[in-house]
Amino acid sequence: MSVRAAIGLGSNLGDRAGHLDVGLAGLAKLGDVVSVSSLYESVPVGGPEQPPYLNAVAVLDTDLSARRLLDECLAIESAAGRVREERWGPRTLDLDLLLYGTVSVDEPGLTVPHPLLTQRRFVLAPLLEAWPDAVLPDGTAIAGLTEAVADQSVLRLGDFETRRLSMAMFLVAGVLAVVLWLVWGWLL
Ligand code: ADP
Ligand code: MG
Repeated sequence: MSVRAAIGLGSNLGDRAGHLDVGLAGLAKLGDVVSVSSLYESVPVGGPEQPPYLNAVAVLDTDLSARRLLDECLAIESAAGRVREERWGPRTLDLDLLLYGTVSVDEPGLTVPHPLLTQRRFVLAPLLEAWPDAVLPDGTAIAGLTEAVADQSVLRLGDFETRRLSMAMFLVAGVLAVVLWLVWGWLL
């Protein structure tokens, strides 16, 4: 029987949106992606001084166990070039298992729900958007947790599709400009 899980995606190095795309493509192989939030930009919390983050949350129906799901996520991170240097340091791709149904796990290397989930607006805001009726194992609705983190600054950007569309339009406009320029030169 499949379980509905929420995965937080984050990146603050290099082509951030491109890394989130890679993460999403990897997650799509682990189950059915039922929903993906918009992209959110946030200033880093904790750790050294580092560039701002791009975050999103994907909701996945999966047959994998929580442990297997986390292991697969860590493998996707590594494939995206993540190098673990310091805790909370900058990263190309971070995939966190936020929720796994309403199951609680507390084992070495795996804590679910993710321990910082309730304290971070950059996690709660996209989670609420992608899975509005999500609840914690103790029955607490995610929707009721956002008020406590309202003072943290998080900016909602466009969604994945809008970003892909505007990139495609940018490319088409560029190609058109080059063609026009060539035709112009040829006519003169
Ligand atoms: P963070 O995401 O908290 O900034 P890392 O991505 O560096 O930190 O993760 C450090 C370790 O946290 C991972 O190696 C993983 O084993 C462990 N971990 C425990 N629970 C979770 C979880 N729910 N999601 C992701 N990683 C987890
Ligand atoms: Mg992580």
